[in-house]
Amino acid sequence: MPFAITQTCCTDASCVSVCPVNCIHPAPGEPDFGTTDMLYVDPRTCIDCGACADACPVDAVFPVERLSASLAGYAQVNADFYAARPVSAAAEEGSPTFHAWQQPTFTRTLPADMAPLEVAVVGTGPAGMYAAQDLLLHTSSRVTLVDRLDTPGGLVRFGVAPDHPSTKRIGEMFARFHRHPRVRLLLGTEVGSDVTADELARRHDAVVWAVGAPVPKDLDLPGAGLPGSIAADTVVGWYNGHPEVPADAVDTSVSRVVVVGTGNVAIDVARVLTARPDDLAGTPVAAHVPPALRAGAIREVVLLARRGPEAVAATAPELRELLGRSGVDVLVDEHDPRITESLDGPAVGAAHALLQGAAREKIDWSVPAERPRVVFRFHSAPERFEGSARVQAVHTADGAVVPAGLVVRSVGHRGRPVPGLPFDDERGVVPNDAGRVEGRPGHYVVGWIKRGPSGGIGANRTCAAETIGSLLDDAVAGRLPDRSGHPSPVRSVLHRLLRS
Ligand code: NAP
Repeated sequence: MPFAITQTCCTDASCVSVCPVNCIHPAPGEPDFGTTDMLYVDPRTCIDCGACADACPVDAVFPVERLSASLAGYAQVNADFYAARPVSAAAEEGSPTFHAWQQPTFTRTLPADMAPLEVAVVGTGPAGMYAAQDLLLHTSSRVTLVDRLDTPGGLVRFGVAPDHPSTKRIGEMFARFHRHPRVRLLLGTEVGSDVTADELARRHDAVVWAVGAPVPKDLDLPGAGLPGSIAADTVVGWYNGHPEVPADAVDTSVSRVVVVGTGNVAIDVARVLTARPDDLAGTPVAAHVPPALRAGAIREVVLLARRGPEAVAATAPELRELLGRSGVDVLVDEHDPRITESLDGPAVGAAHALLQGAAREKIDWSVPAERPRVVFRFHSAPERFEGSARVQAVHTADGAVVPAGLVVRSVGHRGRPVPGLPFDDERGVVPNDAGRVEGRPGHYVVGWIKRGPSGGIGANRTCAAETIGSLLDDAVAGRLPDRSGHPSPVRSVLHRLLRS
């Protein structure tokens, strides 16, 4: 009875570290690591010990025989990953098609005799918490965790959709460290107003910036600013109860919603807006959401893409879940011959293959949906949003007019400059070398502010390992700024904030 990894895989490779037979891949250090939607158990070599399931922070690993009906397909998904890969590492060494599996390696610097460092981590989302966890588990450092909100967790708390409780569960793993004896937790503290970045730096040996990419990218199109045209972050904050998003931020009285973009955020928005309110019961959804959906009229979400199905931005596990839901049809609008060609041609990846299996129809947008549905409309870039008092329709570059009472712009994110640090305006990141901020000794970045806004929660684990590795190397080599003469955080303004 081998085990299989399923939909909620966060790819943080906790399972790889504990597997006694090295049967989970791609592993850190292997060429594919970080490029696949998930990790996979090789059923040919799995010894059914279950260590991976115990270690998984998001409850994604199960014995194949105990997979629920909705996850049953993952036995094949795991096996398929290995179908073209040899069991023997030596068998295909040097082949351009196959690569040999290696023992996973987790190289890092762990100087046992290092004096405790004082490190500030700004941001308590997954990137900040993986960085803090690395410092706390592998060194005797003391960590000051800073977050501008009163509730820690960043995107785990306010980004992950409430109907993904297994993914949210990773927040419990991070929360253990909020109570760690070498952690000071400074909530409701904004760097820049409550404490300056300089003050933070003077009182710590190093500052790790884990501030994400909080600015929604926008569409510079006529009508984008009309009432009823909102950023996906507003919907995500609305269903997660973000303190800065009011309960009436999303108008559910409309029947059709257009979402621009086909990334995982767009899929989350489409799924939650078309959810049966009762299906959200028992999830951490904000209390105002089920009544708003129940009293509302949303029957249809249209996902607008400027490119074809082969370029869908969502990952395969998210699409598989969307397509597998009962009670909500998922269709591809076959309005353009390029779409038919793409859907009938060779699959360019797992997500494309899933769309090839979806229902197709040429949609007449003047006819309201009879049943709840999610429609993918590819090759259809938005051109302008029509409306006077509020948005009423989306005009697309291919000449369609899609009536809609709500438009959600889900076209990605950008980092925001951190005062005092250099900023790459084109990429929206702080320029860095393996996490070291260019020209600012003692400052480090991790997560989306380091590498740009892509990748799920688990990608931050290896990202944090790299940054903390750089920090420890610098500490050992004496490259951290000398803060002798400055008060320690315990006597500092930070301490006063902590007690207030
Ligand atoms: P994303 O994956 O980068 O998707 C952005 C979407 O916006 C793409 O479809 C893109 O189309 C489209 N787009 C960008 N500019 C556009 C424009 N000017 N006009 C029309 N369309 C435009 O971003 P995201 O959905 O915000 O997700 C961010 C990251 O978080 C991703 O790595 C995602 O996987 C991750 N995430 C993961 C989960 C999960 O695992 N469940 C959940 C949420 C988020 P083009 O491809 O044509 O540019």
